[in-house]
Amino acid sequence: MIEQTLMNGRIGIKQRHCETCSQCCRLLSIDALQKPAGEWCKHCEPGAEGCTIYQKRPEECSTFHCDWRLSEHLGSEWFPQKSKLIVVSNSAANRIDIHVDPNTPTRWREEPYFSQIKLWSVLGAEHQKQVIVYIKNRAIVVLPNKEVDLGHFGPTDHVVIGEKQSFEGREWCAYVVPIDQIPFDERDRLVKKQANGRDV
Ligand code: SF4
Ligand code: SF4
Repeated sequence: MIEQTLMNGRIGIKQRHCETCSQCCRLLSIDALQKPAGEWCKHCEPGAEGCTIYQKRPEECSTFHCDWRLSEHLGSEWFPQKSKLIVVSNSAANRIDIHVDPNTPTRWREEPYFSQIKLWSVLGAEHQKQVIVYIKNRAIVVLPNKEVDLGHFGPTDHVVIGEKQSFEGREWCAYVVPIDQIPFDERDRLVKKQANGRDV
């Protein structure tokens, strides 16, 4: 039986532990350390001690838990050390991020992962939620009708998703816009308006 526990103010699963995973110390960028995504943190001893500065690690490390630690909806197949994928729900941004091991860049397209990621996209479209796959600094937007590879995605770039009606029904598109060109209340949202013809 799944037991829940409080983890840094969030509800997590008591029986799940990071063990020798450390994948977040590799796949995620850490601003406080200027660590790029997809490279091991210099303070990490994977498979051994883990974080060598555990007591002094940055707050963005000490407060982080991936979705596998938090959600019973992700089964054992999603354990990041095994799946090579880290799922991070960003509720503030209304977005689901999937960070992929750059050594297995098509892993997210394999089953059972792809069907679940696609389902998040279909369900998310009804709630203005974005689903984005990251392979280091490359971003791929998963839409209900297709996937859009946005290529290199910089820290000041922003994803805008447009929805429009076509003869075939609902149609989505995605493109990158510098963040200062987007009204604050439209950032990190699925924008329900025609995408100014900038389909990709
Ligand atoms: S990716 Fe998740 S399971 Fe793995 S070390 Fe980080 S928080 Fe723990
Ligand atoms: S400081 Fe520690 S917890 Fe943070 S990324 Fe580096 S090894 Fe991981």
